[in-house]
Amino acid sequence: MNKQVAIIGAGIAGLEAASILDSMGFKVTLVEKAEHTGGHIQNWHQLFPDRRNATEVAQGIISKPLANVSTEFNREVTSIQPFAEKFIISAKDGWVFNADAVLITTGFELFDAKRKEEYGYGIYDHVITSAELETLFKKENGVTLRIGRTPSRIGLVHCVGSRDEKIGNIFCSKVCCVTAVKQAIELKELYPECEIYCLYMDLRMSGRHYEELYKQAQEEYSIQFIRGRLSEAAEDKSGKIIVKVEDTLLGRPLKMTMDMLVLMTGMVASAQTASICSSAGIQKDSDGFFKASDPHLYGNITGIPGIFLAGTCSGPKTISDTLSDARSAALAVQSYLSAEANN
Ligand code: SF4
Repeated sequence: MNKQVAIIGAGIAGLEAASILDSMGFKVTLVEKAEHTGGHIQNWHQLFPDRRNATEVAQGIISKPLANVSTEFNREVTSIQPFAEKFIISAKDGWVFNADAVLITTGFELFDAKRKEEYGYGIYDHVITSAELETLFKKENGVTLRIGRTPSRIGLVHCVGSRDEKIGNIFCSKVCCVTAVKQAIELKELYPECEIYCLYMDLRMSGRHYEELYKQAQEEYSIQFIRGRLSEAAEDKSGKIIVKVEDTLLGRPLKMTMDMLVLMTGMVASAQTASICSSAGIQKDSDGFFKASDPHLYGNITGIPGIFLAGTCSGPKTISDTLSDARSAALAVQSYLSAEANN
């Protein structure tokens, strides 16, 4: 198979698909906008629901032997143009590349919490995101150092940037409820005296063993779950965060003082999506992610023969779903190129 496949994005979906296409004998070029592979998982400490070490999982994917795979770093792809049964891929820095098939694995970006100004992110030091909390978990005493004292009360706010008509994202990001429960447990282990509150709209714990984690959070760790949406956060003179929440179960407003507020920021489509869609003629879905030609039957296939999708570029997914999707996309690419070779 002397065919060239370009994979746009070297996160876990891109790497997994690259290793499969490589084992099938294709020439693969990974095109990555950052200066390293692995994507978001590199910033994570422990994974849900089993608290598996994220670095170990990342290494399991990154360290797979790749014989015919090259990687182009710091190349942000802006367009993919079909041309004479090939594809011309162009990056922001002027780099141009030709391939026989293209697999898009550009992943997701985290919602910019500054857009929810009323939550105080970027204004108050002790309002952080769930991704930032993970990096604090990697450092010994990270949370204490950040706050400047041992915390006595921490709130985790669900659905930041997801299920929010005001900012135009009505979809659910799927993974942040279980991430909040996992992080609440980790915080309680670090600070047994600290009160931990999850402020949620409704809990979506639909994966395997998620419900058990939720039960454990309540029964063994005394995590408190308040159903209600945060309306406002403000800082007092001592640097504590005052939050106003409408408790929708009890039907009354609540005012609480927290040492730290953690915003569970959801997934949004990568910034590359719009320009790639318009140059290649691929459809963009109403939520901003790439749209497959038939999401029920052919989730990896776009409306353009030879261009494929894998991972969270086509919507929020867990790590295991992302890897399965990447394997399925690699088979779709192989099937397309084999049919091409036989014509
Ligand atoms: S998974 Fe939970 S926190 Fe995340 S968007 Fe869905 S309901 Fe909100």
